Amino acid sequence: MIGIQVDGKPLLRAYSMASAPYEDFLEFFSIKVADGPLTSRLQRIKIGDAIYVGRKATGTLLTDNLLPGRRLYLLSTGTGFAPFSSLIKDLEVYERYDQVVLMHGCRHVADLGFSQSVVNGVLESEHLGDLAASKLKYYPVVSREPFDNIGRVTDMIENGVAGTDLKISPLNVAEDRVMICGNPNMIVDLKHILSQREFVEGSSAKPGHFVIEKAFVER
Ligand SMILES: Cc1cc2nc3c(=O)[nH]c(=O)nc-3n(C[C@H](O)[C@H](O)[C@H](O)COP(=O)(O)OP(=O)(O)OC[C@H]3O[C@@H](n4cnc5c(N)ncnc54)[C@H](O)[C@@H]3O)c2cc1C
Repeated sequence: MIGIQVDGKPLLRAYSMASAPYEDFLEFFSIKVADGPLTSRLQRIKIGDAIYVGRKATGTLLTDNLLPGRRLYLLSTGTGFAPFSSLIKDLEVYERYDQVVLMHGCRHVADLGFSQSVVNGVLESEHLGDLAASKLKYYPVVSREPFDNIGRVTDMIENGVAGTDLKISPLNVAEDRVMICGNPNMIVDLKHILSQREFVEGSSAKPGHFVIEKAFVER
């Protein structure tokens, strides 16, 4: 949870940490909702202003919640990329999987700026660059303007286009494990696609073939 003080009281919202566990700062990737109670204010904070950061972190997007597999898919839309920004900077992820497929869907090309810069940073990093170059496959998708990959993450998975473009076998339960974070509708659609392919949802109580986290809730 992060937030600010409004009228003498904390105004807090759930956020994913975009920074890696070893980084000496916390990074967040935020939407700006024009009339959103928190983000209409948060977008105006200045250097030196104080914000609240909760002490306790929770969440399901952990490799321990997944059964062993060969390939890890990280499927996101919008700010749902935030937790994957942290994961693709984590050495352990590359040690566990032969391939890491990061898909990020946005409406406009400009919305991909953060994921593109994080991926570039990982590929250029001294301690992860070579490993990531051999394992990380970044597949950005744009739905509302011309781009190399036009459409929706769900369609690209369902019709196998992403697999064909990346020259990997179609999504299958024998090899693939999946983490999903994003728009609630995308989550519903992907859960349906995965359950048709016999993927079972995992949790900290019982690891499975996929795990999900909402990037926001509809109020
Ligand atoms: C588990 C979890 C993790 C989250 N992680 C992040 C994160 O890393 N980055 C982030 O920006 N937000 C994240 N959110 C959403 C965040 O908690 C707030 O909703 C967001 O900061 C807006 O707050 P607000 O008070 O300005 O507006 P709110 O009143 O909270 O939201 C107003 C409306 O804006 C829309 N909305 C809110 N957040 C988003 C979003 N991220 N993307 C698209 N539409 C949205 C929804 O329709 C919502 O009903 C997360 C939410 C959950 C439940």
